[in-house]
Amino acid sequence: MVHNFNAGPSILPRTVIEDAAAAVLNFNNTGLSILEYGHRTPAFTAVMEEARALVKELMQLDAQHEVLFLHGGASTQFMQVPMNLLDTKEKAAYTDTGVWGSKAIKEAKLFGKVEVVCSSKDKNYTYIPKDFAVPNDSRYLHITTNNTIYGTQWQKIPKTSNPLVADMSSDIFSRVLDFNAFDLIYAGAQKNMGPSGVNLVVVNKNMLGKIKRTIPTIMDYRNHINEGSMLNTPPVFAVYVCLLTLRWLQSIGGVAAIEKINNEKAALLYNEIDSNELFTGTVKKEDRSKMNVCFVMNDPALESSFLEYTTSLGIVGIKGHRSVGGFRASLYNALPVSSVQVLVDAMRTFAGKK
Ligand SMILES: *Cc1c(COP(=O)(O)O)cnc(C)c1O
Repeated sequence: MVHNFNAGPSILPRTVIEDAAAAVLNFNNTGLSILEYGHRTPAFTAVMEEARALVKELMQLDAQHEVLFLHGGASTQFMQVPMNLLDTKEKAAYTDTGVWGSKAIKEAKLFGKVEVVCSSKDKNYTYIPKDFAVPNDSRYLHITTNNTIYGTQWQKIPKTSNPLVADMSSDIFSRVLDFNAFDLIYAGAQKNMGPSGVNLVVVNKNMLGKIKRTIPTIMDYRNHINEGSMLNTPPVFAVYVCLLTLRWLQSIGGVAAIEKINNEKAALLYNEIDSNELFTGTVKKEDRSKMNVCFVMNDPALESSFLEYTTSLGIVGIKGHRSVGGFRASLYNALPVSSVQVLVDAMRTFAGKK
């Protein structure tokens, strides 16, 4: 039994893996593999349409919000967002809460003016900045809702009169939010939704067509909207696996139901970190992520033997990111509570607790 705490690509529901494997052999009883199946066929068009509709339903999106599945990871959106929303002489506000946010800032600077309105770099990104002002003339405010590497998460989405843009790669579909309050949401699929190679983009169409720049065809969201997210060959297999995950999420009760389970998993692990004298959390408590739990051992010399011990129990993927060290346990939607319990039991046993 493997307990998969990988940060990304990461765990998917077992039934999704099985159904995806079956479709690789024989998609929809066509006798063809999904890997060799045409995207402009009724069967695949139905996949794309159901996936887009399920996102709308799970996020309870209004009619202004369009759902797209696009090529490339979240990193492609670092440039595609400002290319579509920000004119050369205009300004956008960005929050610097980690490596991914900084990369988004770097790309946005290629297209317009960027004002970094807050940063938690001074403490190696271990907290979420609270007091900052967004200039009125910013075209939008960009946030990273969950900082995958450091294990911080915006528990409260900042209120702003400016349009709101969010990189939700690592906490999409993990908690109930007012998704209509966002004007653009993007997420690489490989943390909470599917395999890598596809990006979910949710965009308020009223935001588009407001700039003077000529946008390359494939980069212009409007073209993808007009073509039903089938402007060119979509990542067929990746979209199919996303659909399977979305169906799974809906079948267990949707975002509200998974949020309860995610809360339970996070509480279980953080409680152990806080009560076990061998371990310390690295993040300011109020900003702790429910998706990526970062912690260190008070005696770093014990870390390699703890890692060895957990590996012997089938625990995979808890070694911390190189910029933080220690451990990072990712508790994405598909990870069962029982896997977290195995990790917690390992921490207790290692500390000589009963
Ligand atoms: C993983 C991740 C990215 C990068 O995604 P790619 O698909 O590799 O481009 C960006 N932002 C966040 C928050 C992430 O967790």
